[in-house]
Amino acid sequence: MKLKSLEISGFKSFADKTMIELMPGMTGIIGPNGSGKSNIIEAIQWVMGEQSAKDLRGTKMSDVIFGGTDKRGALNRAEVSITFDNSDHYVQSDFNEIRITRKLYRSGESSYQINGIESRLRDIHELFMDTGLGRESFSIISQGRVESIFNAKPEERRGIIEEVAGVYKYKQNKDKAQKELTQTSDNLSRVADIIYEIKNRVDPLAQQAAEATDYLAQKERFDTLDKARLALSIHDLNNQIAKATQEVEEHDKRVNQTKVALDVINKELSDKRQERTSAQILRDELQKNILDCTQKRERLIGAKNLSVQQISTLKRDILSAQTQNLDLKNRLHQLDKQINDLMEQKSNLQFSKTNVQTKIAQFDTTLQIELQQGLQEKIDTNRHEYIRTMQDIATLNNTRKNDEKLLNQLKNRQNILNARIDEERKN
Ligand code: ATP
Repeated sequence: MKLKSLEISGFKSFADKTMIELMPGMTGIIGPNGSGKSNIIEAIQWVMGEQSAKDLRGTKMSDVIFGGTDKRGALNRAEVSITFDNSDHYVQSDFNEIRITRKLYRSGESSYQINGIESRLRDIHELFMDTGLGRESFSIISQGRVESIFNAKPEERRGIIEEVAGVYKYKQNKDKAQKELTQTSDNLSRVADIIYEIKNRVDPLAQQAAEATDYLAQKERFDTLDKARLALSIHDLNNQIAKATQEVEEHDKRVNQTKVALDVINKELSDKRQERTSAQILRDELQKNILDCTQKRERLIGAKNLSVQQISTLKRDILSAQTQNLDLKNRLHQLDKQINDLMEQKSNLQFSKTNVQTKIAQFDTTLQIELQQGLQEKIDTNRHEYIRTMQDIATLNNTRKNDEKLLNQLKNRQNILNARIDEERKN
């Protein structure tokens, strides 16, 4: 088996798709420090299923995806494909060429392919077991790993040598065969136990077999007799069926007649139902009318009761108006009397006034005469007389004015009372 080619794209420093063809006679790759030699080896490790980010000089697996440079942005996917020439069928496969592809996206999504077919990591491990390219492969010994091999424990070193020598697989097969052998010997001892157990059960089983044979003979005879009995039963049943068929026919006839009668009854029933529906409608209408009449009657009774109440109230009002009317008439009579008295007082006062005016005129005349006679003394006496008389006149005038005012008030009161009496009479 030979490594034929390696195709790297987006893996570590290989941003662009890079194809490395390994021609016959090619023994190594050289280049300056940091040019990417170790990245090529890691690409091989990675595509063969490496799971440790640390062994690939990273902290997490997505670190293997091209992370970008000053001139170029980061990529989202790393893809590596490795192709082996398997024309010698060193790897147990029918294919002459084996191509393994691994892809990883920044989202965490990843996939493996063997010759373009989606595969599991386990399939790749199984395919390359004992080829030196497996999980704990020593075909690739990275920087610093040589030292760790020399420092390993003897058992670990033995494992490494066995892996490289290709005996690991045979050792595994041997372990498996030994396990199977142990299992088989366990099974054999179980079989021996079962045989021993079965031997003890042979005699009882022979007796059971004889009983079973006897049972089978008896069963055969029973079946023959049973069949004969069944044949007789079938004959009886056929007779019964014929009789029953006849009865069914007669019954059908009766059913048909009953159906005709039933149709007539149904028709009558439907007519009656229709009549009942019409009667129900009529009854509903009548009930509605009764309800209306009852409501009207109740309304009228209510109105009547209200009218009776109103009449009794009006009667009471009329009675009280009549009493008031009588009172007013009496009061009117009294007022008439008062008016007459006042009229009389007025005429008396007018008479007094005329007397006083006459007296004033006489005084004026006397005064003229006495003035002409030049009797000063008499003038003074008369002046006093005159002043007292004038005071009397003023008092009389005031009394007259008050009387006239009272008279007007009484007249107004009389008019109001007359109007009220007229109104009461109208009502
Ligand atoms: P040396 O001989 O010193 O071991 P080398 O030739 O083996 O060097 P590598 O170690 O393979 O070189 O490559 C290192 C280069 O790869 C560095 O320039 C580093 O920046 C680059 N590199 C590593 N991982 C990535 C990544 N994820 N994205 C971009 N460049 C990366």
